[in-house]
Order: sequence, then structure tokens, then C-alpha cells
Amino acid sequence: MTDGDQIRRRMQRLVARVTRRDAYGTLLAAGQVIKRVEDVGDPAVWRDEIRRQARADRIKVRTGMTNGIVWALLHYVGATDARHAQSTRYMRALSRVIPEVQTRRHEPNVILRDGDEALFRCERCDAFGYLDSSEERLIVGGELFEADCPHDGPPRTTALTFLA
Ligand SMILES: [Zn+2]
Repeated sequence: MTDGDQIRRRMQRLVARVTRRDAYGTLLAAGQVIKRVEDVGDPAVWRDEIRRQARADRIKVRTGMTNGIVWALLHYVGATDARHAQSTRYMRALSRVIPEVQTRRHEPNVILRDGDEALFRCERCDAFGYLDSSEERLIVGGELFEADCPHDGPPRTTALTFLA
């Protein structure tokens, strides 16, 4: 199996895992879930359903609706050191890998992030990138990191290049 195959397989697994989750599953895994109102049907029903499942699990949530967006947030009680460490690892990994993407003139954005794994895509070409920041030795791959953007001219700043 080539490295490229392995990265593609990791991308597919990440997408499959995240798309299998319903809104409540996403809330539990990511601490938040945000949807466009037009994508959930009736936002009141959506919020009731999340609150119902949370009550059954004795989990505190906040839900709301703002500017066409409906959202739910876990209301954390106490420490979330593991999540904080994960976030630190991820940000550190981004600052290591994103400069290469900029050198290749891509305009990367995050399509999916789940735990230590993330899937990126260039906004002006179809290049994808994958990152697993769970280990000190990062697993990074995809055209975003390995091929130049076919578009000439300097890339615009994206949220991701701004953060990194
Ligand atoms: Zn590109």
C-alpha cells in the first residue's frame, strides 16, 4: 500500500465516521453542533429532540437559533483537560503543516475535524489534505501538501492560514 492509498483510506474513514453521526452524536463528540435552519427542517423539533436525548443522558445542553443557524452546545461542568490538550496539539500541528500549503499557493479550509483528525480542502482547486495530530510524528498527506495549486497568483488568506 502506498502512502497515498493510506492517506486516502484515512480520509474515507474520517468522512464515514463523521457522516454516520446524527446531530446528537456530533454534539457528544465535538461539544457543539451547528446547522443551517434550512438543513434541519423544523428548528423547534430539532432543538427539542437534542434536549430530549440530553435529558435522557443527564447531560446539560444549551440550544439556540441565530441568523438562520440553529445550534446546540454541551454545557461543560468541570475540567475538560483532554479536550484542551487535543486542541493544543491540533493548533501546534497546524502551525507546522499550513506554511507548506501556503507555499504551494493553496487556500485551505477545514471541511471536517473530529478529535485529532482533520480534512482540508483548497478553496480554489480540488486538492484535499489530511492531518492526524494525535502523535508527535504527524500523519499528513494529500495533494494539498504534495502538489502546487494550479491557480497562479498569491492565495487569499483563509481562516486556516490566518490561524496558523
Ligand atoms: Zn489549490
